[in-house]
Amino acid sequence: MRRLATFGANSDGGIDRVAFSDANIEALSWLDEMLVEAGFAIERDLVGNLVARKSGSQPGLLPLVFGSHVDSVPGGGNYDGQVGVMGAVEVATVLADAGHTTRHPLEVVVFTNEEGGKTGSRALVGEVEPFELEIETASGYTIGEGLRRLGGDPDRISEARRPEGSMTAFLELHVEQGAVLHADGIDIGVVEGIVGIKRWNVTVDGTTNHAGTTPMDRRADALVGAARFVEATYRTALERPGRQVATVGRLEAEPGVPNVIPGRVGLTLEIRDLTMEGIDDTFAAIRARADEIAESTGLRFSFERFYTSRAAPTDPRIRDVIADAAVESGLSFQRMPSGAGHDAQSMALLGPVGMVFVPSVDGISHAPEERTELDDVVNGSNVLLRTILTLDARGVE
Ligand SMILES: [Zn+2]
Repeated sequence: MRRLATFGANSDGGIDRVAFSDANIEALSWLDEMLVEAGFAIERDLVGNLVARKSGSQPGLLPLVFGSHVDSVPGGGNYDGQVGVMGAVEVATVLADAGHTTRHPLEVVVFTNEEGGKTGSRALVGEVEPFELEIETASGYTIGEGLRRLGGDPDRISEARRPEGSMTAFLELHVEQGAVLHADGIDIGVVEGIVGIKRWNVTVDGTTNHAGTTPMDRRADALVGAARFVEATYRTALERPGRQVATVGRLEAEPGVPNVIPGRVGLTLEIRDLTMEGIDDTFAAIRARADEIAESTGLRFSFERFYTSRAAPTDPRIRDVIADAAVESGLSFQRMPSGAGHDAQSMALLGPVGMVFVPSVDGISHAPEERTELDDVVNGSNVLLRTILTLDARGVE
């Protein structure tokens, strides 16, 4: 971990190892060496992912795939992505040192440009669109140029796609990037999935009028309706069973002057949950509350969805294997959703996935102060190792 932290180190104690930078390329070469030493064959696929493969003892089995990313945001810390990659290298090395050959082939993947749009993992499921290759990244190179720098070929990116069902499982160890595990003193997070997101533009229409001459009982004040809607959104998400979250993050009153009753309010509604059905159910409940507000005030509410990010539940059978691995290692664990996106989200389209979280000190991430205790890095790596060995012995069942 300390050596990895030197690639792209900055004066704040963090790293500027943005995707496609020299530091990114140098870190990958260093990882190549360790994986070769552990008996893996190395390649860069068409999207520049570092793919390291080792065959298993039983012919015909699909690989157990595990890994994460080593690129950072500008001014990032030393743990996001990196714990998962070093955990994977450690597992590879421990198995080699023990002379243990798994039944399944093993495949370590270090994904390209996680922080700038998950290019590496999304290409494996055919989701990278041509226009993305023109996007300029923090490295100064476009994504297309960057892929060439890593050894990929942007002209053939569609060939990077893997068929569904082409792996036994994918596992990712990652820092939580939230404060739950650290605050509660829990060793391991068994990730139930990466939450889906839907966002809407909501318009509340009333009547613009003179703030002095219009009596209170003759107003159709869109901002008053919007205020009730914000409260209703909060209450609905809080009081429904489940772990959905709902947020009004932006609100603009028109015309937005002190002496005019606002005739229109534009606001955003965002809902996140582990399933898209959960999001839709919460939305339906919030919308029903909006209808009630509209009826009692004479205002009109309209909803226009403008963003969707698919939920990616982890495989319940793998969650149980991870939980057992934690218990066998003498560690406490908690099942929890991931509020942030990860490469595992794309990999879930190829086969069953599992994710292991370790605590982030004070929940700080994407900053030089980001930290995970060494013991927790070791714990997470041990849970990853045990999970791989269990899945290798009995498959995903
Ligand atoms: Zn990450």
